[in-house]
Amino acid sequence: MDRLISGIAASPGFAVGETHLLERGNLTVEERALEPDEVPAEIERFELSLDLARTEIKDLQNRIAHSMGEEGIGIFGVHLMILQDPMVVEETIKEVRESQINSATVFNAIMTRLRDMLSHAEDEYMAQRAIDIEDVRRRVLGHLVPGGRLFLKQLQRPVVVIARELTPSETAHLDPEKVLAFVTEAGGRTSHAAIMARSLGVPAVVGVSGIRKLARTGMLIAVDGTSGQIALNPDERTIKYFESQKAIFAELEREFLKLKNLPAVTLDGREVELSANVELPGEMDNVIKYGACGIGLLRTEYLYLDRQELPAEEEQYADYREIVEMAAPDSVIIRTFDLGGDKIPVGSETPHERNPFLGWRAIRVSLAEPELFHVQLRAILRASVHGRVKLLFPMISGIEELRQSKEALTRARESLREEGVPFDEDIPVGIMMEVPSACAMADDLALEADFLSLGTNDLIQYSLAVDRGNPQVAYLYQELHPAILRQVKSVIDAGHRHGRWVGMCGEMAANPLATMILIGMGLDEFSMSPETLPEIKKIIRSCTHAEAKACADEALQAKTTRGVTRVARHYMKGKLGDLVTEMLDPNGDMDPDRPPADDEEKQKNA
Ligand code: PEP
Ligand code: MG
Repeated sequence: MDRLISGIAASPGFAVGETHLLERGNLTVEERALEPDEVPAEIERFELSLDLARTEIKDLQNRIAHSMGEEGIGIFGVHLMILQDPMVVEETIKEVRESQINSATVFNAIMTRLRDMLSHAEDEYMAQRAIDIEDVRRRVLGHLVPGGRLFLKQLQRPVVVIARELTPSETAHLDPEKVLAFVTEAGGRTSHAAIMARSLGVPAVVGVSGIRKLARTGMLIAVDGTSGQIALNPDERTIKYFESQKAIFAELEREFLKLKNLPAVTLDGREVELSANVELPGEMDNVIKYGACGIGLLRTEYLYLDRQELPAEEEQYADYREIVEMAAPDSVIIRTFDLGGDKIPVGSETPHERNPFLGWRAIRVSLAEPELFHVQLRAILRASVHGRVKLLFPMISGIEELRQSKEALTRARESLREEGVPFDEDIPVGIMMEVPSACAMADDLALEADFLSLGTNDLIQYSLAVDRGNPQVAYLYQELHPAILRQVKSVIDAGHRHGRWVGMCGEMAANPLATMILIGMGLDEFSMSPETLPEIKKIIRSCTHAEAKACADEALQAKTTRGVTRVARHYMKGKLGDLVTEMLDPNGDMDPDRPPADDEEKQKNA
């Protein structure tokens, strides 16, 4: 059998097909005739792309100021001048007006002509300017025709996409019919591209360093998104191996799906809610197929990541209403925009940040942009009369942010009341528990919120100081780290002390090894990509609450991730059957007969 290459299992499933390397360098500019009334907006789009390019260049100048000094700054100064040159800017606008052709085509033609003319110049200085023109051409076109998105939309036949990384908006727009799977060099299991892949049911392996050097477009590749293995140019034996894994996976899915309409209840009668995380309305089919009881997290920002501007209230209201009506009579937890981090709308003017995940993100953006927040809150409130809606604020780090957010909500309510527009007066308001400072303040926050939802994807990255999308430190990104377990437990306890229900919408809720621990800790709701629900339900229905409690108590005593994992595996023994044990343990080191961790640790310390 061929050598298998290992990465991070990001989205389960198997695929064998042809590779296609996604190179953002190859911008494809498609000519498009405009309707006369489209021309002004097209010119505005072009001007915006120039602004974005200018911001980027100025940013670059700042960044290289120390390392390259005046010379470097000068090079980019030339680029800024090109962006002001009437021969470039005014010519493009004039031509778009007259020919009614899209600005990308016109700009591309002008810049290509200029570049070719200069590149033939005898004078070395002029010839160098051709390189500058080319650089600016690519930069501006990058905003007008985002190469990656275009590429993913343009695929002619089903392929396995290989890329350095995929942005959430690219992933959100890939066509599952055309993308058999994807393999990226960057990314982690909870990076947003991975989350989207799971939601769309596209197998994915991320964190495969060097894959772009090894693969060529058109090569055969086998991908196992369940164990995180891939094989390039697989021989027949390898393909057979992948196909046998695929059969096991399909069999398991059939087995789990039988539980679809049964409640998530332990053998001794403790029931929890299993709901779905949703990004796009198209995922509602899966919500129904996998038997979710409502939506535990609607990531609203995904609806609009392909836009340059967020839509007005009417459009947002229609979108939320559609999802709320589809989910009714079950509830939908609508989270306000979590923009920023790696979720940047196409062509947005968001400033470059050194640490975007620690920067201008989520509730910080909403509070800094009161009009944007007001519009979204009104739209959500209006949608609340069409079913059962709960409201969720992301990335709350302390009491002030919660109070400010609630004040904004009060203003939105008052404005609707004044206009006589109906909304649910009792809409529950919850907060994401995903910043360690919020967890430390859980008691105080619980007093002022109706429910708490643990966002472990961020909580883990912020608590363990591990970038959730960086494959180099993925080994440190541990859902079963004792510090995470203790933090989760303290949040659940704080919520319960004040009579609040506590859910979890981070990916940890879908980790089969965490299920018994979380049940034992008293978690009230688990929310996850719909296709992972049946497996978690199977575990819940296979244990007693007493057993889960013992598992949680023991796990909370463990001092290492390995220790917690051992405890979890010990208690999981036989809960999912042999097939799953095999799937959960691709490295073959699961040994449920071993004594739980602390026995081992005690023995070591004796
Ligand atoms: C989380 O952080 O756990 C979460 C659910 O939010 P997101 O993945 O959208 O950051
Ligand atoms: Mg989060």
